[in-house]
Amino acid sequence: MSTDTVFSRIVRGEVPARIVYQDEDVTAFHDISPVAPIHVLIVPNKALRTLNDAGPEDQALLGKLLLTAQQLAREMGFAEAGYRIVINCNAQGGQTVYHLHLHLLSGRRMTWPPG
Ligand code: 5GP
Repeated sequence: MSTDTVFSRIVRGEVPARIVYQDEDVTAFHDISPVAPIHVLIVPNKALRTLNDAGPEDQALLGKLLLTAQQLAREMGFAEAGYRIVINCNAQGGQTVYHLHLHLLSGRRMTWPPG
């Protein structure tokens, strides 16, 4: 199944996005339809469809996604106030774009449980 989604095109610079960070492994950009005052998506440059598609060879990459979130939270100034990280997986998880991504949300108090 094709993994070439709009996120791969953003990673390659073919689709415009408000990029906040990019290196050889990961790309972070503002969500086009934010659900919080701060809503950044962090994606591996390598197109994994879902979290289910990650394997042991992706261990460092998965860790890097989290460390990138932590770094951005600090640099963007909301690490101490707090934030939420979400990964939606497949239909029941609410995933709509099939390129693994982590939502980094902040700027308001988050509710629990999620809807
Ligand atoms: P999911 O529901 O798959 O976990 O999250 C997909 C997210 O991608 C949604 O929050 C949606 O607003 C965002 N999104 C979808 N298409 C685009 C796009 O073209 N550009 C950006 N920046 N975000 C997008």
